[in-house]
Amino acid sequence: MPSSEFSLISRYFSSLGRGSAVDLSVGDDCALLHLESGEQLATSIDTLLPGVHFPEDAFPEDIGFRAVAVAVSDLAAMGARPLGMTLALTLPEADDFWLNTFSQGLAEAVSAFGIPLVGGDTTRGPLTISVQVMGALPEGKALLRDGAQPGDRVCVTGFLGDAAGALAFLNDQWQPPAEHAEYLLSRFYRPTPRLELGRSLLGKATAAIDISDGLLADAGHIAAASGSKIELEPTLLPLSEALNSGPSTEQAMKWAMTGGDDYELCFTLPAEQTVPEGCTLIGRVTDGEGVDCGMDIAGSPGYRHF
Ligand code: ADP
Ligand code: MG
Repeated sequence: MPSSEFSLISRYFSSLGRGSAVDLSVGDDCALLHLESGEQLATSIDTLLPGVHFPEDAFPEDIGFRAVAVAVSDLAAMGARPLGMTLALTLPEADDFWLNTFSQGLAEAVSAFGIPLVGGDTTRGPLTISVQVMGALPEGKALLRDGAQPGDRVCVTGFLGDAAGALAFLNDQWQPPAEHAEYLLSRFYRPTPRLELGRSLLGKATAAIDISDGLLADAGHIAAASGSKIELEPTLLPLSEALNSGPSTEQAMKWAMTGGDDYELCFTLPAEQTVPEGCTLIGRVTDGEGVDCGMDIAGSPGYRHF
């Protein structure tokens, strides 16, 4: 990057850094954040690449929003309170239009999820966007993947399969009715990390994960970590009106079972806990291993990079 790197940072990225846990934001060698007493730091990083995590022709505003949303979703899955994030941005060129609209998407996400941008790194190269998030948790109370017990119920937030339906739409594999098109695309480009719901599960859920690779794959992570089996009931999967208007019920259920990118939460609840509002009971934890999804999904594992 030329020396304009510094003016670029101050123009686009240094105004989003204020937050209650932030003692020092963009401008020094490190940012400084503080935890309350009895809290633990949760941190995670996600990288987005064009053609892999978003279509090459996606709007920069959507790319900025989505980069933050998918990273924040990991905080939601642990039940953490957002403290701040850093952004490592590699750009082929310092294009003002791109940076302006990208940083608008970032700003929308900063405000929607209450997570300030406290630092980062800016370099020249093939477009690569990494967002590292930091959050706070009451010590020892995090929602892990390994606590599911036989007898627990399996629940999810929101609707499943919308992002997979949106991707199929973007790839011209089907045409949703006009009134559902915008909703579907927003479910892919503007995922909603379930921060509040995640925090409300602290001390209640026995395990949790966010659905980034598809329900089947991600429920499989809970089953493996917990040393238990998960049995899912496909007819209980929550489908949006948009998916119900889709090519077929079977296709919609397949998207919901195996499609990634929804960033809803999947969690396990002991029998005495009531299913929270906005969530759906979709299965149970039993003795054994793996996931029984109750339908034929041959040839559609979760997304794998290697
Ligand atoms: P250093 O050389 O100390 O690593 P840099 O020159 O990379 O610092 O960055 C200067 C300041 O700008 C630092 O506080 C850094 O965190 C911040 N920064 C750099 N790039 C970004 C970005 N893309 N988003 C937010 N802050 C950034
Ligand atoms: Mg640096």
